[in-house]
Amino acid sequence: MRSRRSREARRARETSELLRALRLFGIDIHIDASWLFIFALLAGNFTLAFYPQQYQDLGWATYAVAGLTTTLLYFGSVLFHELSHSLVAMSHGVKVERITLFIFGGMSQIRSDSPHPRAEIRIAAAGPLASFALGVGLWVVSRLAPAEANIWAGMALYLAQLNVILALFNLLPGIPLDGGRLMRAALWWRSGDRWGATRVAAASGRWLGWSLIAAGIMLAALLGSLMPLWLSLLGLFLKSAADVEGRQATASQLLTGVRVDSVMTRDPVSISWRASVQEALQDYFARYSFGGFPVMRDAQIVGVVSLADLARCPPGERNQVPVARVMTSLGAEHCLRPEEDLAAALQKMAAAGVTRLPVVDDTGTLAGLIALHAINRQVRIRDLAARGV
Ligand SMILES: [Zn+2]
Repeated sequence: MRSRRSREARRARETSELLRALRLFGIDIHIDASWLFIFALLAGNFTLAFYPQQYQDLGWATYAVAGLTTTLLYFGSVLFHELSHSLVAMSHGVKVERITLFIFGGMSQIRSDSPHPRAEIRIAAAGPLASFALGVGLWVVSRLAPAEANIWAGMALYLAQLNVILALFNLLPGIPLDGGRLMRAALWWRSGDRWGATRVAAASGRWLGWSLIAAGIMLAALLGSLMPLWLSLLGLFLKSAADVEGRQATASQLLTGVRVDSVMTRDPVSISWRASVQEALQDYFARYSFGGFPVMRDAQIVGVVSLADLARCPPGERNQVPVARVMTSLGAEHCLRPEEDLAAALQKMAAAGVTRLPVVDDTGTLAGLIALHAINRQVRIRDLAARGV
């Protein structure tokens, strides 16, 4: 049988195998294709413009080595920042999916929510603190020689400045930046309302995004240069990330306290793990109107299977391939309990990378199945009710 891997992880493996560069402390470091563009842009700028202007007559080889080293160390600094978040998160039992380096820097993809606001404060503060510390360390190194005359001391000084800028920028108060996470944690701590706090910090993130978009356009017009538009693009990215988190928080807020067993499909039809893909198609998907089925091995749930899973099996092999080979495997930790609420169900679905999850009772027996569309329907109903329609 296949090893337990989520659909999301499987998809990531298929699409960016080449770009998964390394694994540090048990965390996959992914490099997005967009990162290669920014790497080339920065390395080119350091080598062809920045260093030749600052330090004359050193020869192209020196400029190239200095340019490339600066770029690598800069991204090393970004990685150091993200690793600091991730390691503190892991020490609090918060799962880290991976770290991605992309065009706007780095991003830690964290799979579960912080257990309490204090943990969130530590996780959020770890990155900027690490960047400040690295900045101070590099500044000390730069003092070993006069930075005006020595290109390597100059590089250390420049990297020190970049790290301090990285820390300060990340402290701006708006989700998805660290400052926004700190703001959310502080509000959550004070009010005890996790989702309400997230909505405020996400609204602040949207405002921050719009400000950067406007600042980029104004600077571009004032300076007659396209470069400041970079700031606008970054603003656009922050705004859309804040939008997503704001919407998720609204949904979670509406779903808090709504029990899983009030919405789930009871006594769902299940498929044996031994059934072939052909049998699944013919006897289950063609017969019932469900979009997916739990897969059982004896009395135990081992996964869920959807039409998209079956489609992965080559048509000629449908009679030989068992459902167990194409399903999304699920462990006991992914299953829902009848008394959990729908906000928790949403989080578990996102973590498992599936759109339906089995519900099991105290005895470990399959009690129901809950689909994402059923949860989304509840969000819409409750949203309408909250608006007084
Ligand atoms: Zn950060």
